[in-house]
Amino acid sequence: MHELGIAKSLLDIVRDEARRHGQARAVAVGVRIGELSGVNSKALIFGLESLTKGTEFDALEARIETASQRNRCTACNHEFLVVNHNTICPECGESQTQLIGGDEIEIVYVEFEE
Ligand SMILES: [Zn+2]
Repeated sequence: MHELGIAKSLLDIVRDEARRHGQARAVAVGVRIGELSGVNSKALIFGLESLTKGTEFDALEARIETASQRNRCTACNHEFLVVNHNTICPECGESQTQLIGGDEIEIVYVEFEE
């Protein structure tokens, strides 16, 4: 299962962050998943839960946010969200635009116990 491997690497990052905060107890992690990443957020949450159960991360809550595809225009450098696979620049009508986001899997924040 693809998502289990991702869950493992995300937990490694949370563990590093906790260490940096003097072994603080992490209670929540915000994860941004791009719509092009092919990651199933339900499977990812399930993977995280199965990895954290009975560990120091037992209380960790995963908050998933999805990110839409973003492109940048090669003519005017305008950055825009791609809606309905329409990659034409909404500013100048240029059809040559580059993918700049929407395939990411990243931790946005880690929350620690007060
Ligand atoms: Zn443009």
